[in-house]
Amino acid sequence: MPNPSLPRQTGTRQSPQERVKNFNEVAQGLDKEHALEEASRCLNCKNPRCQAACPVNVQIPSFIQLLLKDDVKGAVSKIMETSLLPAVCGRVCPQEKYCEGACVLREKFGSVAVGLLERYTADAARKQGLVTPPTPAEATGFKVACVGSGPSSLACAAELKRRGHDVTVYEALHDFGGVLRYGIPSFRLPREIISEEVKTVKAMGVKFEQDVLIGAVISIEELLKDFDAVYIGSGAGLPTMAGVPGENAVGVYSANEFLTRINLVKAYEFPKADTPVKLGKRVIVLGGGNSAMDAARCARRLNPESVTVVYRRSRAEMPAREEEVENAMEEGVKFEFLTIQKEILTNEQGHVIGLKCLKAELGEPDAKGRRRPVPVEGSDFVIEADSIIVAIGQKPNPIIPKTTPGLKMTDRGTLELEADGQSSIKGVFGGGDITRGGATVLLAMKDGLEAAAKISQYLSDKEPKGGK
Ligand SMILES: Cc1cc2nc3c(=O)[nH]c(=O)nc-3n(C[C@H](O)[C@H](O)[C@H](O)COP(=O)(O)OP(=O)(O)OC[C@H]3O[C@@H](n4cnc5c(N)ncnc54)[C@H](O)[C@@H]3O)c2cc1C
Ligand code: SF4
Repeated sequence: MPNPSLPRQTGTRQSPQERVKNFNEVAQGLDKEHALEEASRCLNCKNPRCQAACPVNVQIPSFIQLLLKDDVKGAVSKIMETSLLPAVCGRVCPQEKYCEGACVLREKFGSVAVGLLERYTADAARKQGLVTPPTPAEATGFKVACVGSGPSSLACAAELKRRGHDVTVYEALHDFGGVLRYGIPSFRLPREIISEEVKTVKAMGVKFEQDVLIGAVISIEELLKDFDAVYIGSGAGLPTMAGVPGENAVGVYSANEFLTRINLVKAYEFPKADTPVKLGKRVIVLGGGNSAMDAARCARRLNPESVTVVYRRSRAEMPAREEEVENAMEEGVKFEFLTIQKEILTNEQGHVIGLKCLKAELGEPDAKGRRRPVPVEGSDFVIEADSIIVAIGQKPNPIIPKTTPGLKMTDRGTLELEADGQSSIKGVFGGGDITRGGATVLLAMKDGLEAAAKISQYLSDKEPKGGK
């Protein structure tokens, strides 16, 4: 019998004092005993709201029931019917907005900790060698190229392969995973977890090519000569800057550059690593999303005197995962809410010395329903700083649209798609952050899965370019 009134499990974490000294994973997850206890809280609902709220429709009650029978292999295979990245999603998915936010137990007892159970299942299966990559259907003879190796392309590539197509993923960087690899730090998502889940996609027979910048090394037009269809999942890797005076000063980083230095080339190990990162004593991070929290928490681990997040709305409006805001606070990151950046102040050498700010009040809701910050006249004040990390948003890199004649983009610089999933160029599809302009791992995966179905539909009345 389910027992929803048992206390909701939260897992253990490294202590704040300890974890600010290292880049090892903070959240330790559940052991078997606690995972089974948590699983026993689930009511196995007939119409599971948790599952309906999951963008990729993970069969949540079914995998939890298999886990309860100690069938880890069955449980992980059940999740992998719709998501090949369970260990990643169990760690970084904003469950409070999706499955756990919709769980029937939320109000009375606290939602089932679906994220922790997904993570436990994936980790236990991996450790016991129970992860079985899905078997692809018979080869169709069609070849599809996926641009980028973030969650969107990985989901699309795996689903296309499952449907029997021959798939090649082209990645501009020297390693695979997209933002999972270069944006999200190892203390939230260990590198080996990403590598293992990419390995599952490789084991299905998807081919991977690194260091290939599509649009420079090979154009989309050229890809279309060899491939029957192309999926663009190149993300939104171009930083949006704050547009305030002083932004070109020495000591200003985009979150993108800062996080890439830390996560991809381990600049915190300099001089052991080739690339340094210099922050000085006082660091300011602009923004309130996941990038801002990741940048602030990485900065904290480089041991400056202070790290201050400046966010123009209040805590309630922050788009970052709740858990990461709490983690940042526990780690000693300071927050200046309802504060708008006005100018970056510099010394004679052009180096950052501070940030001039204005206080704000919340006004009417914007198009997304979030209340707008309204500056309070005459409330100027200065926060002293040696470096400023700008984490206020991202947009797609223009290299592909610039080198692809006829590829229609929206005014926001995102890829425009028709109802059948195609772009303005026949046979070219897209999804993830390049179409959304920045979202979540699961929404990117959802786009990839849906595009794979649409690509298969598109190919269904064609002959393979290379013949059957
Ligand atoms: C710092 C940070 C933290 C985040 N934290 C979370 C989180 O905790 N939870 C969550 O759900 N979401 C989070 N997000 C959002 C989430 O990571 C993204 O929505 C998701 O990764 C988008 O997936 P994607 O596959 O569309 O693009 P990406 O992950 O950006 O992958 C695109 C890939 O394409 C490659 N590429 C780009 N151009 C080319 C080209 N021309 N040729 C070849 N390759 C190319 C890039 O190098 C990259 O590897 C975070 C985002 C950031 C930036
Ligand atoms: S809604 Fe909650 S209780 Fe119901 S099946 Fe989903 S996780 Fe279990």
